[in-house]
Amino acid sequence: MKIVVHYAEIGLKGRNRPRFEERLRLGLQRVLAPVGPVTVAHRFGRLLVELPDSIPFDQVKTHISRCFGVAYYGRVSVCAPSLEALESELTEFLRQRKFASFGIRARRAEKRHPFRSSDIARQLGQFVASQTGARVDLRNPDQWIDIHVLTDEALILHERIPGPGGMPTGSAGRASCLISGGIDSPVASYELMKRGASLDFIHFHSAPFTSGASVDKVRDLVGRLARYQGPSTLFIVPFGELQTELVQEAPAEPRIVLYRRFMLRIAEVLAHRRRGLALITGESLGQVSSQTLANLDTINRVATLPVLRPLIGMDKQEIISRAQQIDTFDISIEPDDDCCSYLMPARPATFTRPDRIDRIESKLDVAHMVERTVERVQQEIIEPEP
Ligand code: ATP
Ligand code: MG
Repeated sequence: MKIVVHYAEIGLKGRNRPRFEERLRLGLQRVLAPVGPVTVAHRFGRLLVELPDSIPFDQVKTHISRCFGVAYYGRVSVCAPSLEALESELTEFLRQRKFASFGIRARRAEKRHPFRSSDIARQLGQFVASQTGARVDLRNPDQWIDIHVLTDEALILHERIPGPGGMPTGSAGRASCLISGGIDSPVASYELMKRGASLDFIHFHSAPFTSGASVDKVRDLVGRLARYQGPSTLFIVPFGELQTELVQEAPAEPRIVLYRRFMLRIAEVLAHRRRGLALITGESLGQVSSQTLANLDTINRVATLPVLRPLIGMDKQEIISRAQQIDTFDISIEPDDDCCSYLMPARPATFTRPDRIDRIESKLDVAHMVERTVERVQQEIIEPEP
C-alpha cells in the first residue's frame, strides 16, 4: 500500500525546511517500523510511504497518529504522470465508489509537464462524468478527487485523514519533564513532545517511606510516551532521605514548597547532563496548594532554566480528556502510595514568601543535600510500548 503524508508548511520557510522534512521522514520510519517493512521517501513537499498490502490499515493509522508533524495523510493510487495513465487509474478508483456529484482538485508539483492543473481538472472531470453520470459540484460534492502530479508519477488520493499535527520529534531541542505518576505530568510531556521537543524524564520517589510502586508506574507511563519519540531516558531519584532532613529541620506548612524547590535544583543538574534547555512540570494554576501563584513564584526562584508548564491554564477535566486520548489515563489512575503522612504536612501553606523560604534554607547545606541525592540517581532507558 502507498500512503502520501502532508505536513503543515506554516513556519517552515527557508533553511530549516529540509531538516524538518528529514526529521519527519525519520519519525514516520520509526513509528511504522513495528508494523512491517517500510520505506519513506521525499516527494515535493510531501512524503510517500510504502508498506506491504497485507498490513491492516487500522494498525497503520494507530501508528501514524504517533508521528508529530503529520498534518494529514491517506492511501493513494500511483501511476505515470500523463492524462492517459490517470484515466486508466481512475477507472479502477471509480469502480469502488458511488457518488452523485464530484469535484476534482488537481495540483501540479512539477511545472515541466505539458499540461496545467486546470487541464487536468477539465479533462479528467469530463472523463469521470462520462464514466459515472455524476455531475460536477465544486462547492459541496459527495466526492472530492484529489490528484497530485509529481515528476515521475501522479497520485490519486483515496482519503484525507487528519494527523496529530505538531512539529517532528527532535526539531525543537531537548528538555526534561518532572514526571510523578499522576494524571498531569504525562499530559504536559505530550504537549511538549508534540511541539518537537525530545524529552528526558525525571521521577522522585520517597522509598523507604513509600513502597516504590510509583517507580513501576512511571516506567509504564514513560513506555507509553516513548511511542511518540522512541527509546527514552528516565532518571529515578531517591528523594526520601532529603525529605527526612527537611521534615526534621524545617517547619511543616511550607514543606511542599521546599520539596519542590529541591526537585527543581536536582532536575536542573540532571537536565544539564543531557544538555536539556528547559524543565517541564504538570502544574495547573490553583489545582493544589503548591500551585498558587505565590507558591509557584517561590518555587521558581531556584531555577535558572525556564520551567515550562503547558497545563497552567487547563481545567482538570480538559487534562483528563487529553490523558484518555493519549492512553496514559488508565496507568495514571492505578493506585500507588506516592506520599505518606510522615512526609506530608497536615495543612500545607498556600502562600509562601521567597525571603522566608530562603531564610529556612540558609540553615541547611543545600548544595551538599543536592549533590548527595544526585550521586544516587539511577538512569534507565525505557523502550516504547508496542
Ligand atoms: P501530577 O498529576 O502530574 O502528579 P499533581 O496534580 O499531582 O500533578 P503536584 O503533586 O503538585 O500536582 O505536582 C506538580 C508537578 O510537580 C507534577 O505535575 C510534576 O511535574 C512534578 N512532580 C510532583 N511530584 C513529582 C515526583 N514525585 N517526581 C517527579 N515530578 C513530580
Ligand atoms: Mg501528583
